[in-house]
Amino acid sequence: MIEQKMDAAEADRWARLRDNLAAVRRRIEAATEAAGRQASPPELIVVTKFHPVQDIRWLASLGVTDVGENRDQEAAGKAAELDGLNLRWHFVGQLQGNKAKSVVRYAHAVHSVDRPQLAAALAKAATAEHERTGRGPLACFIQVSLDDDAGEHRGGIHAADVPALAEQLAGAEGLSLSGVMAVAPRGADPEAAFEKLAGISAALTAVHPGAGGISAGMSQDLESAIRFGATHLRIGSDILGPRPGLR
Ligand SMILES: *Cc1c(COP(=O)(O)O)cnc(C)c1O
Repeated sequence: MIEQKMDAAEADRWARLRDNLAAVRRRIEAATEAAGRQASPPELIVVTKFHPVQDIRWLASLGVTDVGENRDQEAAGKAAELDGLNLRWHFVGQLQGNKAKSVVRYAHAVHSVDRPQLAAALAKAATAEHERTGRGPLACFIQVSLDDDAGEHRGGIHAADVPALAEQLAGAEGLSLSGVMAVAPRGADPEAAFEKLAGISAALTAVHPGAGGISAGMSQDLESAIRFGATHLRIGSDILGPRPGLR
């Protein structure tokens, strides 16, 4: 058993991850039931940014299949080191076009596509990667801004620009359009934000029926996100604790 080879600190950490993960799974289950969504529960992506690869190994041993990262250099290193675990890597952070080539090597999905130039760079890189290795299309979520202009900007394009970017992604070789992603504005009501996102998603799927993904919900607001149709939850701190160096 994995536990027997651990020292006390490791055993502690392992037990903490196990308990936190179980608690988050219970929250997800309760919210899924409350929303009447048992037939289509959301997927859990554990956001492991800033945390060591050993945590990810333990999470994988606890049944986690999908992990999220927000910096290419860190993600690329972790993905290479954990290659044997068959995890799906989700890129959830601000991404520069010149990192596209690196990201398509390990990423299953990019949740933060927020401009035409980035979509073009990802398409080019994913097509080249497909030719090189035969790997399938890169799943892309359009990150939408839900701030009104007063709020602190947390990334994403304006809702009005979603249709054009969706058209580009849907038509791009090497990419598949999965849906929309957003981060709830800080200090505002997450329910209102996720309701707005659900509306943007409905408009998108009217044109692109296969793009029904809604990547929404973090540690603080996963219940609201599930209530408004989130299909992919991105949970970090409630499973892994505070991020090292960011306290
Ligand atoms: C860090 C991060 C998360 C996880 O947030 P927590 O509050 O730690 O659950 C989710 N989404 C994005 C885009 C992130 O950068």
